[in-house]
Amino acid sequence: MPEIILDDTAYASTTGETVLDTLTRNGATVPSSCRSGVCQTCLMRAVDGAVPPESQKGLKDTLRARGYFLACQCMPTEALRIERPGAEARRLAAKVHAITPLNREIVSVALECSDMGDYRAGQFINVFKDDSLSRSYSLASAPAIDPHLTLHVRKMENGRVSGWIHEALRVGDQVAISQPLGECFYVPSDPEQPLLLMGTGSGLAPLYGIIRDALRHGHRGPIHLYHGSGHKHGLYLIDELRALAREHANVQYHPCVSREEPSEDLRRGRVVDIALSDLTALAYWRVFLCGHPDMVQSAKKRLYLAGASLKNIYADAFIHSAA
Ligand SMILES: Cc1cc2nc3c(=O)[nH]c(=O)nc-3n(C[C@H](O)[C@H](O)[C@H](O)COP(=O)(O)OP(=O)(O)OC[C@H]3O[C@@H](n4cnc5c(N)ncnc54)[C@H](O)[C@@H]3O)c2cc1C
Repeated sequence: MPEIILDDTAYASTTGETVLDTLTRNGATVPSSCRSGVCQTCLMRAVDGAVPPESQKGLKDTLRARGYFLACQCMPTEALRIERPGAEARRLAAKVHAITPLNREIVSVALECSDMGDYRAGQFINVFKDDSLSRSYSLASAPAIDPHLTLHVRKMENGRVSGWIHEALRVGDQVAISQPLGECFYVPSDPEQPLLLMGTGSGLAPLYGIIRDALRHGHRGPIHLYHGSGHKHGLYLIDELRALAREHANVQYHPCVSREEPSEDLRRGRVVDIALSDLTALAYWRVFLCGHPDMVQSAKKRLYLAGASLKNIYADAFIHSAA
């Protein structure tokens, strides 16, 4: 089987094994998170040997041309000499500006980062707890509106990174983050196109950035935002989103709860069911789906069956780490 050389150590791969599996099975330290080719944490560079094209999917042309690849997606077909990412894929330094509770389990984390450059509301960054442990968090901020990068981080039980963010991270701390990643953002190409934004839990984060970014660009088509949680206490930014809907006649905000009888003007049920009972003829709609992977997967399928075009569906499933 092909041999992989990293830091002058040779590792023998076995059939059907990715480069990431080979390295970690043999005790090499390689940062990784989603292991699904999304978060790009396991980015590496082939110095000798060609990597399969599928291991470079989603990377910028400039990185592809320089031999960068995702170790979790790379099943080598020939011997490779590889190295860890260099300056092109560098980490950026950020400082914690504020940490604010949004509800019982989600905090907003505002970060100052002077090197971030251009980013699009709805993209995500990787936040590094240390050299080998990082997780992806979506950007709820919009560059022309918010002075800081903002994340909405839900605390997971025994969560190594979300727990650290909730319990140990403090205002003034320095953290390493990645450059912005992902394709889930608004493009101001068709201001009349109806937009459907659907998310559960902290999946509101990218949608909150995207909706404000679209409005800032003068989007005129109808915008429907469905935010769901089991219980009312899982929802957040309700007042802000209601105010946004009052200010913009084309915005409709639907807070939904699935596991309790709703009070006030909340909707009862799952976001996908409620959206599909409200909206028909989705062929021309642009759709943004974010949050729990099961919700994203099932919503994608059902919206497609309801007429939405797959090329108009932008989704970030909050896949959790397998390692
Ligand atoms: C593109 C992308 C964007 C993301 N954006 C956000 C965001 O904006 N806000 C946010 O809060 N999270 C987001 N996530 C999820 C985030 O990256 C982490 O997976 C999450 O914070 C848990 O990491 P952890 O280290 O705290 O938990 P871990 O230490 O990895 O896991 C602790 C325990 O929780 C379980 N677990 C972890 N995540 C989940 C889950 N989602 N559902 C069920 N069980 C789980 C694990 O199986 C494990 O038992 C995003 C993920 C991706 C891929």
